[in-house]
Amino acid sequence: MSASDSRWKQKYSQLLDDYERLEEYCKRRSNLLERGLVRSSLAAEGLDPKLDKQLQALRDSIRTTDSQQLQQVVDNIERHLLATEHQRQERHNSLLQALQSFIGQLQACNPDKPALQALRKLQAAVKDGQQLSFNLHNWLSELSQLQAEILQQPATQARPGLLSQLFSRKSTAETPAAAPEPAELPHEPEATEPEPTPASGNTRHTAEIAVPVTGPAVAASTGTIDTEPLRGALTRLLSELSVTEQDADTVNELRDKLSASSDWQTLSQTMEQLADLIIRISTRRQEEFGNYLQQLNSKLTLITSSVGHARESHQSNVDSAASLDQHLHNQVSELHQDVQHTTDLNTLKQRVDQRLNQFLDTLAQHQQQRKKSEQQLLQRLDELNEKVHLVENEAAFLTSQLVEQHTKARQDALTGLPNRTAWNERLQIEYQRMQRQGQPLLLTVIDLDHFKQVNDTYGHLAGDKVLKILADRLRQGVRKTDFLARYGGEEFVLLLPDTQLTDGISLINKLREHIAACPFHFKGKPVQITFSAGIGQLQANEEPAATFARVDQALYTAKQEGRNRVRSAAEVAP
Ligand code: GH3
Ligand code: MG
Ligand code: MG
Repeated sequence: MSASDSRWKQKYSQLLDDYERLEEYCKRRSNLLERGLVRSSLAAEGLDPKLDKQLQALRDSIRTTDSQQLQQVVDNIERHLLATEHQRQERHNSLLQALQSFIGQLQACNPDKPALQALRKLQAAVKDGQQLSFNLHNWLSELSQLQAEILQQPATQARPGLLSQLFSRKSTAETPAAAPEPAELPHEPEATEPEPTPASGNTRHTAEIAVPVTGPAVAASTGTIDTEPLRGALTRLLSELSVTEQDADTVNELRDKLSASSDWQTLSQTMEQLADLIIRISTRRQEEFGNYLQQLNSKLTLITSSVGHARESHQSNVDSAASLDQHLHNQVSELHQDVQHTTDLNTLKQRVDQRLNQFLDTLAQHQQQRKKSEQQLLQRLDELNEKVHLVENEAAFLTSQLVEQHTKARQDALTGLPNRTAWNERLQIEYQRMQRQGQPLLLTVIDLDHFKQVNDTYGHLAGDKVLKILADRLRQGVRKTDFLARYGGEEFVLLLPDTQLTDGISLINKLREHIAACPFHFKGKPVQITFSAGIGQLQANEEPAATFARVDQALYTAKQEGRNRVRSAAEVAP
């Protein structure tokens, strides 16, 4: 064997060794991967029945040598996993929601302070929703422990029900309750008064105020028991209260608190403050009315006594006239006798003279007395007149106040628009007219989009100003015969008599576009405010409330479809 041959042989046997080592290594590696894959596929079992089947197929095909089959199984699994990712996300969310709702229900059981704090902590962690599957076990066991603790708390610790808190103030005050946690308030704008932006060459009408829409949205409900319907009703109640300047701050504060009261605990405290306010207003009203009645009573007493005096004076006049009569009558009959019995002419002349002087004396005395009592009577009449005048003035003032209050009771204090009471009255009138005359009558409900964000980001002062400006714009955009009202909160309602549905829809769309194009400003930053609306036609054989419900449903659809749009009840399925 030549030297070259032996070198080749050595090289060949070295390569053979390398190949065998590599083969060994690949085999070990493949076994390892196979084991890992089988174990992982077993661990993933139970998530989804379809996936389970595919994982079984994967395990089976790992053991065969058919790599085409393996390829197909892996492709199937990949497709399936991509398709179910969305469902997985939904499951994830609904699990989080269920946990939130569980926490909310436990919070509603009025737990003691440590339990409440633990629930809050848990609520924040769940809201964060990080690493759900990793944390789920811990959260569930913590919740079950808390549930056991809360359910074991003595019944005497429970706070009274919301309604009893609202209406029986005394018992609430006497009942020891868990120390309240401070309500989370939306923060105020940097400047309380929003600044107008100079209309520098902008042809569109610029409304001076508020607010970018990009602020953080504070979720009204964090998945706990839904307090929203009650908060909505209380906010409406608040906006319908007829309050004076001195209560304005309390009303604003309560409105903020209501919009931040996402749990029952905070909401019940806010309701308690609302009850205080209502009781205060009603007590004040009663006191005012009581005072007025007392004043009126004392004035009427004075008038009655003046009338009594006048009657007495009149009676004494009548008496003195009668006594004069009697007097004169006696003197005339005495004169008559003198004339009959006196024969001497001189004596008769003297007697007649004497009697005539007596006559004149009596008349003069009487006249004097009568003059005196007439003066007294006149004086009394003057006094009486003055008092009657005073009462008349007061009555006129009161009547004007009553008229003003009647108007105020039908007017929304913030926007100056008719309020819900006025709306209900007008709706009935227009509905009856529509029934009599058969002209089409349209009803529209307008609701500002994402208005809570405006309040939460910039405070209610900015929100209030937006509402005022918006009300003005809407008022300017409708006919005199139309009827626009603030239904409550950020909801407006509009009646369009004698209007065809298509015309009504285009009118509301025009208003909508106008508002959306009207740049509201806060500190020079333009912000778009939009609204959604539902519209529908009142029917002669349908109660207005039923039409309202249809229109409200249409509004709901407009919101669902993305907001800043108008939906007609006619095109929305009932
Ligand atoms: P959506 O688009 O779904 O209607 O969202 P939204 O935020 O407008 O609706 P939501 O009903 O959640 O909130 C309405 C908000 O309107 C809650 C409250 O803060 C605010 N609001 C109601 N009345 C008044 C008010 O008189 N003044 C101010 N500033 N805000 C009010
Ligand atoms: Mg609303
Ligand atoms: Mg709204």
